[in-house]
Amino acid sequence: MSASTSEPPVRTSVPPLIVTQDNAFWFEGARQGRLLIQRCADCGTLRHPPGPACPACRSFDWDTVESTRRATLHSYTVVHRPQDAAFTYPLAVGLADLEEGTRLVADISDTDLADLRIGMPMEVVFAEHAHGAVLPRLRPRQEPA
Ligand code: ZN
Repeated sequence: MSASTSEPPVRTSVPPLIVTQDNAFWFEGARQGRLLIQRCADCGTLRHPPGPACPACRSFDWDTVESTRRATLHSYTVVHRPQDAAFTYPLAVGLADLEEGTRLVADISDTDLADLRIGMPMEVVFAEHAHGAVLPRLRPRQEPA
């Protein structure tokens, strides 16, 4: 929770984000509602999670591309326990294939768990999490097909 809210802080055991020079762009993008993907400046390989070197050519030069936020649900699980005050349960967590080819793990929101299906179209939205962090969430795609 941010210091500016009048709500009491959520008692959570979720640790604060660890922001480094390699992943700061990603968290800043999320804060702006943009899902950024790291791209090797030498060979163009996309990678996620962010890291210092390209796994394909070992280059340390990189830039980013902005994702369309369109994805397909590759897999998911439903968490019941252990529970933390920062989340609501049952908590669905998905592994999604982004249209660009990288994968993303995120909470799934705005759906009945019984409606989840592998391969269903998803989209990435952003929401505030513990410690004021803004992180992506997956939800069934709501735009016209
Ligand atoms: Zn490369």
